[in-house]
Amino acid sequence: MIRRTDEVEDLMHRFPHVPREAVIKEDLLRGGIAFDESALTDSANEASGEVKPKSYFIFSFDHRTLPELGEAALRRPPEEIVLTGGPYELRRTVVSVRVNPSSPYRVAAGEDGMLGLYLDGRRIADVGLPPMPEYYRHTLSSGKSVMEVAPTIQWGYLIYLTVFRVCQYFGAKEECQYCDINHNWRQHKAAGRPYTGVKDVEEVLEALAIIDKYDTTGASTAYTLTGGAVTSRVGGKDEADFYGQYAQAIEERFPGRWIGKVVAQALPKADVQRFKDYGIQIYHPNYEVWDKRLFELYCPGKERYVGRDEWHRRILDSAEVFGPRNVIPNFVAGVEMAEPFGFTTVDEAIASTTEGLEYFMSRGITPRFTTWCPEPTTPLGKANPEGAPLEYHIRLLEAYRATMEANGLSSPPGYGPAGPGRAVFSVSSFMDSLPAED
Ligand code: SF4
Repeated sequence: MIRRTDEVEDLMHRFPHVPREAVIKEDLLRGGIAFDESALTDSANEASGEVKPKSYFIFSFDHRTLPELGEAALRRPPEEIVLTGGPYELRRTVVSVRVNPSSPYRVAAGEDGMLGLYLDGRRIADVGLPPMPEYYRHTLSSGKSVMEVAPTIQWGYLIYLTVFRVCQYFGAKEECQYCDINHNWRQHKAAGRPYTGVKDVEEVLEALAIIDKYDTTGASTAYTLTGGAVTSRVGGKDEADFYGQYAQAIEERFPGRWIGKVVAQALPKADVQRFKDYGIQIYHPNYEVWDKRLFELYCPGKERYVGRDEWHRRILDSAEVFGPRNVIPNFVAGVEMAEPFGFTTVDEAIASTTEGLEYFMSRGITPRFTTWCPEPTTPLGKANPEGAPLEYHIRLLEAYRATMEANGLSSPPGYGPAGPGRAVFSVSSFMDSLPAED
């Protein structure tokens, strides 16, 4: 069996223009990280430690369920890690934490007590942990934590407001086949953790006021309103009014303080206009996977309620409301290669994904992607515990940048700085792989 180190170094050698940082980051995101006991905090109480804990902000993003993770879940791992140095001379690289006790990557304290990232037993980077932000140490008047109501990710850049913790695409015939939002809800409830299904607008405002007050470095720059699809109503509101009400309240209370974004279904233009009127600046109608057959198989709820062609038409329509730069649909990089239905060669998968990128980028719309984490309770995760080949992820970075440059586009707004050593976007390395801009 070829060692992971050999595979990683072979790809670094074959794709020298993809930053080395991105190669390591993609591998960590697709396959997860094991945490040595020495690297976990003793903080059962999430507000008392020195390290910012993993908040489980929407999906589990782990390779095991909470009961299977045991100690690694009870003594919470960090939200993110930052890598530097080592034999590959890594520039500062922020990586979202996805726990996998079987990963060949392990975070552990060395003999000197300093944390390092080890691959196949060799230390390949120094590891920094996110400090506990001051705003996490304060609670709401209800006793809820800021971390539960308004966690921050991307090294504090983005406030992640999953205001609806479940999805109304429900069951095997509707849920996206790589998504564990509904399972994650169940497992946190079963573990007795606080996990609010529908967040109260006033509580969100209270949490934001605490962040605004104690974010003394001014790191928080944007918020994302997100959660499951609303196919009927929540609290008597349809999807546009449900998510929009939070934006409206936030913008009334903190006008222009953060860049407001929403992740929602691709809605008809009049609904999209309502998002804009409520104060949202960036719209994410995620198209998930480009290939028609795979979309129908993997996103049965989206296919049933909207349909792929209509979904794409609505993405284009929404560019007339928000402007093409501010429509940023996501796709889940890697599911194109999931067995049993996915492409069997990297060439085919890259060709298909690039066709989708070209479709949107030629119209001025810049999609972005998150790296697929094969969560074990999802159909695709169960069938593909190893995720997609690392080579796919590296070649996607290359194809993404080339398509963007061919269409005269640059990194999308609302993601912080681009470039290796500068990016903070933590759930894929597309921002690490783009040229730095001043
Ligand atoms: S729309 Fe799909 S990806 Fe989004 S929350 Fe629902 S099931 Fe998950």
